[in-house]
Amino acid sequence: SIMPATLSAISNGARNGILFKGGAHLENLSHVKAIAFDKTGTLTRGKPEVTDIVIREGLSRESLLKAAASIESRSNHPLAHAVVRFVQNEQISFSPPDHLEDVSGWGVKGTFDKKEWRIGKASFVGIEEASAFADGAALQFEEEGKTIIFVSDDEGIAAVIALKDVIRDETKQALKTLQEEGIFTIMLTGDSDKTAKAIAAETPLGTYIAECLPEHKVDHVKDLLKKYGTVAMVGDGINDAPALATASVGIAMGEGSDVALETADIVLMKNDLPKIAEAIKLSRKMQRIVK
Ligand code: ADP
Ligand code: MG
Repeated sequence: SIMPATLSAISNGARNGILFKGGAHLENLSHVKAIAFDKTGTLTRGKPEVTDIVIREGLSRESLLKAAASIESRSNHPLAHAVVRFVQNEQISFSPPDHLEDVSGWGVKGTFDKKEWRIGKASFVGIEEASAFADGAALQFEEEGKTIIFVSDDEGIAAVIALKDVIRDETKQALKTLQEEGIFTIMLTGDSDKTAKAIAAETPLGTYIAECLPEHKVDHVKDLLKKYGTVAMVGDGINDAPALATASVGIAMGEGSDVALETADIVLMKNDLPKIAEAIKLSRKMQRIVK
């Protein structure tokens, strides 16, 4: 049977936008020593915008944008949505791709206008060619904290697209409060090391790990479990779900993907990061009452 103190803490949480899917999660939360955060959509707003595009000489801007929007129109990734929005704003029309494959953590590949296209991270399109493209244009963008995606066709790299996502207004204060509560904070992201470093530098994060594939996020959570005992993971994406399930406590952003919401033990109903520290205080208070 559920203790009155637990029940009261759960309903208190619900009134405050923190949904606990059971009393056991409250107890686990009270012991949390480290919290891992996903970057895109969790620490950042998850609404990246295209800021720069460098296109291969000889390729028209319009045909590049048509192909990129076509391929990305079938992906559910926030970067894909940003590319499609950008092309729509330029009033350029595009048709669906002939074929498409979404490779989680890497990018998308498909056929459009009888050519094979890939859009994604440097290692997805060919890392050496990508790094050399346009005199290493990507490097400068990454140092500005922008996320880089490359577009390639049958002839090689066709373009580099830079996108900027902003950190949520509440992120810094939320991380600071957690640290004051003695909790170690870490960011796990699929993004490149330079971009991750620039974003981390804008926050009081304890540390970050970049270039994480979805299965790497799980491995890093396992490492944290060994080191800290009780660990929470906060995320919003399908690619975060395995790590949410691995952590002692999985916390999903309320506007996250269905899979993240289903897998999590706790849901932050309004994407409200400061609620995590509140939930921890609530859980510690409850533990004191229960004992
Ligand atoms: P994060 O952990 O930051 O949420 P993901 O694991 O979802 O990131 O993606 C990692 C990287 O893979 C992205 O930064 C991007 O370079 C590439 N990528 C994944 N999906 C796409 C896509 N649909 N279009 C372009 N790039 C993509
Ligand atoms: Mg995310």
